[in-house]
Amino acid sequence: MEEDLKSPEEGLLRVMALHALVYCERLFFLEEVEELRVADSAVFAGRTLHEELRRTEEEDGEWTSLSLSSESLGLVGKMDAVRKRDGQWIPYEHKKGRSMRGDRKPQAWPSDALQVAAYAMLLEEHYGCVIEEGRIRYHAEKITVRVLIDSSLREAVRSTVLRARALRASLERPPITTEENRCLRCSLAPVCLPEEERHQSDPTWATVRLFPPHQERKTLHIVSYQAQIGRAGDTLKIRQEGEEQTYPIHEVGTLVLYGTPQITTQALHSCLAHDIAVHWVTRAGRYLGGISAGVGAVQRKLRHYEAFADASRRLGLCRRLISAKIENSLRFLLRATRGEQDRRASVEDFISEMRRSLKSVTHAEDENAIRGFEGNAARAYFAALPFLISSEVDRSMLPKGRSKRPPKDRFNALLSFGYALVYQRVLQAILVVGLEPALGFFHTPRSAAHPLALDLMELFRCVLWDMPLVASVNRRTWGPDEDFSIVGEQVWLSEHGRKKAIQIFERRLEETWNHPAVDYSLSYARMVELEVRLLEKEWTGSPGLFAQFRIR
Ligand code: SF4
Repeated sequence: MEEDLKSPEEGLLRVMALHALVYCERLFFLEEVEELRVADSAVFAGRTLHEELRRTEEEDGEWTSLSLSSESLGLVGKMDAVRKRDGQWIPYEHKKGRSMRGDRKPQAWPSDALQVAAYAMLLEEHYGCVIEEGRIRYHAEKITVRVLIDSSLREAVRSTVLRARALRASLERPPITTEENRCLRCSLAPVCLPEEERHQSDPTWATVRLFPPHQERKTLHIVSYQAQIGRAGDTLKIRQEGEEQTYPIHEVGTLVLYGTPQITTQALHSCLAHDIAVHWVTRAGRYLGGISAGVGAVQRKLRHYEAFADASRRLGLCRRLISAKIENSLRFLLRATRGEQDRRASVEDFISEMRRSLKSVTHAEDENAIRGFEGNAARAYFAALPFLISSEVDRSMLPKGRSKRPPKDRFNALLSFGYALVYQRVLQAILVVGLEPALGFFHTPRSAAHPLALDLMELFRCVLWDMPLVASVNRRTWGPDEDFSIVGEQVWLSEHGRKKAIQIFERRLEETWNHPAVDYSLSYARMVELEVRLLEKEWTGSPGLFAQFRIR
């Protein structure tokens, strides 16, 4: 049997991966094949526990972490401790949680028992002796459970290694587990989205939200062009306008630098080491580029390429994306003119044009036709926008058509700056999910920007920026002089204006919304990432959830 397990050309399997496989085959696949790892609070607590144990080792020499590998077993693993008791070597494993209760007696969970058995087999080969027992310490209960390393457990280790090999060679994500309770404790639930799949196949399913409703780590916008960003220990230090602020590194998710603030190499290294994305944006709001440690999973990118090579899938995605975009803009116009006869009459023709375009998109036979209908709808929408602005607002704030490079009026300066913020958020979500931003399905790769980010932005322009922007203009939030800087025919935001725009955008991201396709509410910030994950599901076994969200 051991011959069967040898497979050096495929690389050794981590014992922890066997643990994942026994828990759920999909979990194994996501971690080992797609290289997805999520450091949630449970994972963080587990790491802290092991760090504490290592400190104990240094203090009294009792605990010994030991790494072993075996070609014949096909395994590599790092056991928490190995101790000698009554002349026998015993592998120890530490778990933060509780044991399994069977017949009221504490027992090891099957995945934990298999893990400690795999360590025992590695130890046997290392020491050349038989290991009969392993132990698992469950810290939540402060109890230690003994595991008998018998022939059936050894056989289970071997058959799990073979199953892991078969899964590793496959291109298909295994289905979600039928044991829903396991998903509640799974660190990859926000990536796997099992409840969303259950809801899709059974609309009466009461979805348990496993996708975090809010962003856990902050986005820091550095607007002052003289700002300096450095690192001190586990913190980022930001000095701007004579003040220094300190942020613990684990609380920061993204840095967005406007203009030319200085960031040290040490701070950049720290950002990469802690998965903090850094984006550079010009003071006018044009996105320049960014760095992100991201997810390097080659297999996921290959499937992304394959998916978009399929013309009928691309066409289907284009139809859904642009339908969602037009329908959301249309609903916004209807909502903003509800109960106001004159205003509604002023935009009626534009609304009719958008309705015609929406209908045509549904039946469009190719992507170019969809681009044409999208263009018609966008022209009608931007022509309608001035009618949404209250007559009490300073007339200099009214848009005069859509001008982009450069913006020629204040409203267009705000639109362009806000869209750059939306672009950066969408790009960040694409990188976090691990898709290839250069590979889109609607925008052609001629633009300087990433086509997939431009594609997905279409879902969010109206909801993330147009709606709060029009509301802020009608509240007379903007000072025509202090918030803008006018050079000839070009209009840009001043530093004061940029700060205001960022505040409005960040507030919008924190607002929550009920997502109809998944039947739970979450912040707009999370919705961006959720939609990217739902897009990936189009080619990983659960199509149909992407681009379903609509404003009411
Ligand atoms: S969330 Fe559930 S189905 Fe998905 S990997 Fe985890 S345990 Fe498996």
